[in-house]
Amino acid sequence: MAELETNLTEIFEEATRRNPGELEFHQAVHEVLESLGPVVAKHPEYTDGEVVRRLLEPERQIIFRVPWTDDSGRVQLNRGFRVEFNSALGPYKGGLRFHPSVYLGIVKFLGFEQIFKNSLTGLPIGGGKGGSDFDPKGKSDDEVMRFCQSFMTELYRHIGEYTDVPAGDIGVGGREIGYLFGQYKRITNRYESGVLTGKGLTWGGSQVRPEATGYGAVFFVDEMLKTSGDSFEGKRVVVSGSGNVAIYAIEKVHQLGGTVVACSDSDGFVVDEAGIDLDLLKQIKNGHRGRVSEYANARGASVTYTEGGSIWDVKCDIALPCATQNELDEKAAQHLIENGCLVVAEGANMPTTPEAIHLLTAAGVRFAPGKAANAGGVATSALEMQQNASRDSWSFEYTEQRLAEIMRSIHDRCLETADEYGAPGDYVLGANISGFTRVADSMLALGLI
Ligand code: NDP
Repeated sequence: MAELETNLTEIFEEATRRNPGELEFHQAVHEVLESLGPVVAKHPEYTDGEVVRRLLEPERQIIFRVPWTDDSGRVQLNRGFRVEFNSALGPYKGGLRFHPSVYLGIVKFLGFEQIFKNSLTGLPIGGGKGGSDFDPKGKSDDEVMRFCQSFMTELYRHIGEYTDVPAGDIGVGGREIGYLFGQYKRITNRYESGVLTGKGLTWGGSQVRPEATGYGAVFFVDEMLKTSGDSFEGKRVVVSGSGNVAIYAIEKVHQLGGTVVACSDSDGFVVDEAGIDLDLLKQIKNGHRGRVSEYANARGASVTYTEGGSIWDVKCDIALPCATQNELDEKAAQHLIENGCLVVAEGANMPTTPEAIHLLTAAGVRFAPGKAANAGGVATSALEMQQNASRDSWSFEYTEQRLAEIMRSIHDRCLETADEYGAPGDYVLGANISGFTRVADSMLALGLI
């Protein structure tokens, strides 16, 4: 990891001591602190007010028991989390992740990232994140419903449209949000649409929310390309994952004239030189939660499937990691560089390791961090909240146009901030400083929170 300025080193060491074993959280904190030296030097009020130290400590952390019964009547037990990290800008906002790897360190890294991401959108939303080590994979709909109901039976007392507004993330899509919202409604006797986002269109959801993170990431890259007079037209693109973010990233790349030649899941990856057939992929993934290996079987000999391995060995102009944290390491970065990759943009949260980021940027590959590039999801969640508050619903076209405008303004804000701090083209520094200052100034204005 790169060196930090002296006072930030002390703050980082204190954070690692206070949060032992939370490696992903340490990584996310370090990545932000690497950028903050110049802004803290320029604004002594941030040091005087201990803003950075306060920012690293969540306002509230909730850990709870989630018992549920499986289809054979046996009692199962999981652990639930909600970390309400920072509410200086608005109600806590951030998704729920259901995946066996979830523990406090993952929820805190995601919640911490969310503070800056939400700030970058320019919308009134604070940062939070939650989830459970529950694995929806292989569970029946009834089991998922019983789990969600039990999860919400505790969570409901901590959330609300003015308090904390969860959404989806890995393992939490429309089905799970439906069961969670249904239980919240049952317990509270309130049709409080603004308490959760990612809802279905017939019960308070927004157009473009399912598409928003993937579309937004591609809009962001489009803005990056435009700065050098380039576009997606004719570009060869690799997208990791085949979940919500990946599918809609692929869709938008194809709409903008690029070709996505590879995608993956946690078992392996497929290469389809003709371009990923999105209808088929959606049918497999959304239809029966199938695997990308089925995609290869259905497409026949022209498509290769590699079990395990690294999707980043596939030659591309643009790489969009859209699966999970730390999936693109130094070795993968080296392969991307050797293959002439021009841009890496994070659709997932923290998919690129710090060593890989340094390698890519040193080699002149343009790099967009997730807190900027994947902010379209939460931004559209905030638009869903706006529609809920005004009991209105907007058209697909209008919502998509709002999303595109937000992504453009995030992009421009990152570049302007990078310029201001003498690091032109550094999207990481631009995103971190720009996201930080809005939160820091609000924290100071609100007194000791
Ligand atoms: P989904 O659950 O819909 O899809 C996740 C995809 O990533 C699946 O293809 C999954 O494969 C793969 N994946 C998950 N864990 C691993 C792993 N350990 N190794 C390899 N592949 C893995 O989640 P989303 O698409 O919603 O989220 C993807 C990423 O985007 C996450 O980092 C999330 O935090 C981030 N994000 C999501 C937003 C949203 O709006 N949904 C908003 C902003 C960021 P498999 O099926 O085999 O598990």
